[in-house]
Amino acid sequence: MAEIHLALVAHDAKKDAMVEWARPRLAQLQQCTLYGTGTTGGRLQDELGLSVTRMKSGPLGGDAQLGAMIAEGRLNALIFFTDPLSALPHDVDVKSLLRLGVYYDTPLAMSPSTATMVLDGLVR
Ligand code: PGA
Repeated sequence: MAEIHLALVAHDAKKDAMVEWARPRLAQLQQCTLYGTGTTGGRLQDELGLSVTRMKSGPLGGDAQLGAMIAEGRLNALIFFTDPLSALPHDVDVKSLLRLGVYYDTPLAMSPSTATMVLDGLVR
């Protein structure tokens, strides 16, 4: 089976939701090569013991780094829990990452229910 390269990003208000979504899915996630923005990746590493290649924090370029990976064909899927209730200083980076995900038809999940469908579709 081809290796799955999966990126995980959560805005601050959604980081707890990301950890709680990932917790019962460790076996599936451990079958993937994982990437994350700095703080999200750190929490997944520290609280769940997952091995995550950490980019810069989202507002400091992490979203842009993941967008570049999508453009280069180096990501198979993106799980991105955005905060629907806050304005973010790096909104342009968020939009860019989502735009590239759509352009390259990268499987993209923005909520726990969809993330589960995407992960189940990638890894059993
Ligand atoms: P973070 O970045 O995981 O470093 O907080 C996510 C974001 O805010 O885009």
